Amino acid sequence: MTRSFDYAARPATILFGPGRRTEVAGAMERLGCRRALVLSTPHQAAQGAALAAPLGALAAGTFAGAVMHTPVTVTEAALAEARRADADCVVALGGGSTTGLGKAIALRTDLPQIVVPTTYAGSEVTDILGQTDSGEKTTLRSPKVLPEVVIYDPELTIDLPVAMSVSSGLNAMAHAAEALYAPDRNPITSLMAVEGLRALRDALPAVVASPRDIDARSTALYGAWLCGTVLGAVAMSLHHKLCHTLGGSFDMPHAETHAIMLPHTIAFNEQAAPELLAPAAALFGGRLGVGLWDFAAALGAPMRLRDLGLSEEDLDRAAEIATRNPYANPRPFDRGSIRKVLQAAWEGARPPV
Ligand code: NAD
Repeated sequence: MTRSFDYAARPATILFGPGRRTEVAGAMERLGCRRALVLSTPHQAAQGAALAAPLGALAAGTFAGAVMHTPVTVTEAALAEARRADADCVVALGGGSTTGLGKAIALRTDLPQIVVPTTYAGSEVTDILGQTDSGEKTTLRSPKVLPEVVIYDPELTIDLPVAMSVSSGLNAMAHAAEALYAPDRNPITSLMAVEGLRALRDALPAVVASPRDIDARSTALYGAWLCGTVLGAVAMSLHHKLCHTLGGSFDMPHAETHAIMLPHTIAFNEQAAPELLAPAAALFGGRLGVGLWDFAAALGAPMRLRDLGLSEEDLDRAAEIATRNPYANPRPFDRGSIRKVLQAAWEGARPPV
């Protein structure tokens, strides 16, 4: 086989392992930083404070106001706190929402970021930032927003509720599945994608059975790192486009929407890219779309868009919005075929084998 590909490694430092959240101070020192602004959501304010406490004076301020979709108004409030604290870096503890706030601050100030992820969303290893201004969501890619240091401590995911763990894990798996047929894929991203899927396939049932099992949590977070890394490295296609549409225009929750859509978008694309998806399909009984559906159902994942409050009439508009602009996808599609994919996900139908 003749090979031709581009490979660009993203310059981030990853520290992985139970208990490693105590290494924030060391990471700050290596970055030459002395005054961190510690970020979290209101819900995780106590976890943020627990991370900040041992930092002493190195934690110059805290901002526990991160929310979903990175609204510019929240970023401005956090920037004011960063100025007040004279911060020279941000430490973001949380899921994609808190990571997004740290990235939004870095975009505007160039402050270095240390991210301590507590979900499987993967934002911490991408150069992608989605922001909302007056209800409109825009996405950009910039090296400025790629966090410098990521500290993965599975102990911080022990209390991630099982339902969120499942949805967030499937959200991560979606990055890996689409990376396998990305037009700019390369051998390294494909290896990482399959390994990420394998790790989450093994870990999620164990997390559901025993949420405090640190080995299962560790394997899930390891998978999330791999899946996030490929999200940051290659272009995403139909699946991410549809989820972006459903989140941006219909206010559907991020991880749950990914979880529901994944088997349907992959079943649709599998017909056009069976060889590229074969290593992943082998992990799920030979067919990836239906295999992921069975996997998600066994985990108790959300299975139907209708259960998220989307009306059947919304599907027409979603199909129209998602097909307005062309983008790379292994299987050609039009409004009609996308409408069918959405219908199947709305009903929660098992994809055909
Ligand atoms: P989230 O960050 O919004 O978290 C959801 C809720 O769970 C929050 O209240 C949070 O505080 C709580 N939570 C998180 N971890 C917890 C834990 N361990 N224990 C208890 N509670 C916990 O959810 P998410 O799915 O991680 O992130 C979604 C957001 O991230 C979306 O806005 C999405 O667009 C963005 N995102 C961006 C990228 C990117 O590359 N730019 C990638 C993935 C997701």
